[in-house]
Amino acid sequence: MLQFLGRGAAFNDSFNSAFFRDGNDLILIDCNATTFHIVKKMDLAGVDNIYILVTHTHSDHIGGIALLVDYEYFIGNIPVTVFAPNDAVYEDLRYYLKNLDGCEDNWYTLRTVADLDKSWFTAAIPTEHTPALKGKCFGYALTVNGTPVVYTGDTRITDPYVPYLTPGTKLYMEISSHRSDVHLYAPDVRGFIENAVAKGIEVYLMHLDNEDKITELTAGTGAELAPLYRECSGGTTMNKNDSAILDEIYNISDKLYRSMCSNQENDHATLFNYLTELGKTIVGADRASFWKWDTRRNELWTTSATGVDRIVIPDTTGLVGKSLHSGQVVITNDPYNDPDFNSAVDKKTGYVTKSVLVLPVADINGKFIGAFQLINKLGEPSAFEEQDVRKLSLAALICGIALESETFLEDSHHDKLTKLKNRMGFYNDFSRRYNKYLQPESDRPLSMFICDIDKFKRVNDTYGHNAGDDVLAFCASLIMKACTDKDSAYRWGGEEFIMIMQDTTLEEAVQKAEDLRKIVEAADFPADGNTIHCTLSFGCTTFAKDKTIEENISVADGHLYTAKETGRNRVVF
Ligand code: GH3
Ligand code: MG
Ligand code: MG
Repeated sequence: MLQFLGRGAAFNDSFNSAFFRDGNDLILIDCNATTFHIVKKMDLAGVDNIYILVTHTHSDHIGGIALLVDYEYFIGNIPVTVFAPNDAVYEDLRYYLKNLDGCEDNWYTLRTVADLDKSWFTAAIPTEHTPALKGKCFGYALTVNGTPVVYTGDTRITDPYVPYLTPGTKLYMEISSHRSDVHLYAPDVRGFIENAVAKGIEVYLMHLDNEDKITELTAGTGAELAPLYRECSGGTTMNKNDSAILDEIYNISDKLYRSMCSNQENDHATLFNYLTELGKTIVGADRASFWKWDTRRNELWTTSATGVDRIVIPDTTGLVGKSLHSGQVVITNDPYNDPDFNSAVDKKTGYVTKSVLVLPVADINGKFIGAFQLINKLGEPSAFEEQDVRKLSLAALICGIALESETFLEDSHHDKLTKLKNRMGFYNDFSRRYNKYLQPESDRPLSMFICDIDKFKRVNDTYGHNAGDDVLAFCASLIMKACTDKDSAYRWGGEEFIMIMQDTTLEEAVQKAEDLRKIVEAADFPADGNTIHCTLSFGCTTFAKDKTIEENISVADGHLYTAKETGRNRVVF
């Protein structure tokens, strides 16, 4: 995100401004006298343009801009464009820069933000400073690598920023340990910070005239000091690509944690989506997909595929199949001449595959369970190499663990014998799917029945436990067949089952139970080599909103008890 070139108030001449990178752009927010000393030491490989966003025109800012322009013109030759937030600041800049010795017109481009058409720019925000800067003091709303950022600049008010403070925004907020007419005084804005943090905004403090005192004055508000740029003060030097990749990794992990920590219902699909995106970014590929290997059905399917819809293919097809069966990484930089390449998708979509990398992914026991696939390495020539496999390895490892944990979760929600969901599956579905029916504002009916095999103990006693198991599995299959898209069935306990019917009235649910009762009554049940007959008793109800899940189920259970008491093989509601 944003990094700060130093800390301190305007007068102590620290590097009191910030910068960020987005793609091949280096964007400096303000550019005071000392900024260029730091830019000088930055590794600018890969930077095609330097942009300066001006917040206001203090003399040290003008001087800083002139120095940087000068420097770039003579050594770096990276074009510098200066953006003024409005016409008044533009006029000031034009006047001052023109009259500054050693800063020629053709060494820089001066524009207003009205001409700024960049994905990282959102708006210049007019704010208030000294009377001398009336109409000429601004903050910025930005979208840095996809994340909303608000930079207040020097300001004595917070109101203008409020419309930009949506949850997830990073707010870089000017703050002072002294009360004055030109800066935000820490004790005055404690409440503002606390509210922002409570709304899901990350608050970073900048322009700190006294770091220790401000830390003390804002303790407990949830704000942090804005991160300092330390690259050139003895830290490790990274080349631009590494640092851009690290930014991407950070951004993707950040998004992932945000989505995991939010109230929204998540499943592993979110994780796979982000990890796939991460793999694609790290290696620099046009497309990425993560394939799950369903060894029971001998199928491969993508849980996430950027650029295409979900695809299911036999596990013997294509390079993914080859990679999984052999347990080897597959790299092909000439796919159309590779006999294992399956060009069906290209034929269907018109996409041209130039290079493919497949990395098989194992569970913790080393069994292959899925594969990462990258298509079309960016750049010319489009060719994957051994090094890309190493880059991808961590994302692939996490995908493997996530896939395994997803499988465990699925298993824990299902009953092995009947293949129906179990009680855990029921409660999981309840919180995700059914709870909304019980909300006061809902007018959609939710109904259920609970059914129990009559005199089931006799089956066990007469034909043995295996026969009992067969009967249970067969009964479950009849119940499953009776489910429409709106219905779900669960094994509630031994020989008891529940069916939940969405958007279904009591009458409809009773009818459904009655139909199923007849089907079961008429069916021939396989029972360990024998054929037997079974019946079911039903208790049926529609969910009452003023009752808990358990209380509603109790109502149905009560009716089931009555069904048993009054002769079995019947539906009571
Ligand atoms: P009722 O009509 O009153 O429901 O009589 P019932 O015999 O069906 O009821 P009871 O509760 O007396 O017996 C249920 C039996 O189901 C007892 C238990 O051993 C058996 N059972 C529960 N789970 C399984 C299972 O997974 N496999 C087998 N084979 N039997 C099971
Ligand atoms: Mg029973
Ligand atoms: Mg029972």
